[in-house]
Amino acid sequence: MGFADLHIHSMYSPDATTTVRAVLKQAADVGLDVVAITDHDAITGALEARELASQYNVEVVTGAEVTTSDGHLVALYVEKLPPAGMSLDETLIWIGHHGGIAIAPHPFNNLPNSLDLHVVMGVFNRPRVKGFLKGIEVYNMATRAFNDTAEKLSVYLPLAKTAASDAHVYWAIGVGRTQFHGSSADDLRDALEKASTIPIPFEGKMPAPPLLSWIRRIFMRRLGYISDTVSASSPINTQRFDRDALLKAMKKLKK
Ligand SMILES: [Zn+2]
Ligand SMILES: [Zn+2]
Repeated sequence: MGFADLHIHSMYSPDATTTVRAVLKQAADVGLDVVAITDHDAITGALEARELASQYNVEVVTGAEVTTSDGHLVALYVEKLPPAGMSLDETLIWIGHHGGIAIAPHPFNNLPNSLDLHVVMGVFNRPRVKGFLKGIEVYNMATRAFNDTAEKLSVYLPLAKTAASDAHVYWAIGVGRTQFHGSSADDLRDALEKASTIPIPFEGKMPAPPLLSWIRRIFMRRLGYISDTVSASSPINTQRFDRDALLKAMKKLKK
């Protein structure tokens, strides 16, 4: 059996504080076999992670968290970034045509960036799109107050159930993980297609309530604090990141 965290943000998301190396290092340290780096409308971090993954003994699924006009959608197994701003249907078709699959993240919670039940149910009435939505997060550890609703409603949907951290800080990686048969990224895809994944929520106590964690990381990021590591055997350090390097990284995204 393998373990995956299918929803992780790196510093290529403007609200996250972890370098790609630190994501991989933490993923390996907490026993994950596969991670998906899913930055907000950015794929640079995921592509970078895949290049480095073998050094850390984890596999990377390239993806992004796409801002659709209906709410966030996690695109997995794509090589290119799906354009933001399209409807859920259009985005699903784009992802499908580019060889990917999608997961509905933190659904049904009335937050502005979340897909609502009608929209997700609607997908199953449309043969052209339904094959591309494969999973639903029944546990998202960043919006965990709403997980009950997602879990209850997911019973009615023919989708793989996942648990993910939605980590924006390194220590949250793997808090919320999905178990699957096998251990590779291909095995994981197979399990998502067959809806045989097992969501494993984090049962322990989180170090801070979500709002406090959110405020803290937004401030950290604004002040230029980033968690980084130099190699698989060195520790993760959180410190002021070289501003030029950070700016260069963000510039790379705009290309
Ligand atoms: Zn989101
Ligand atoms: Zn997210």
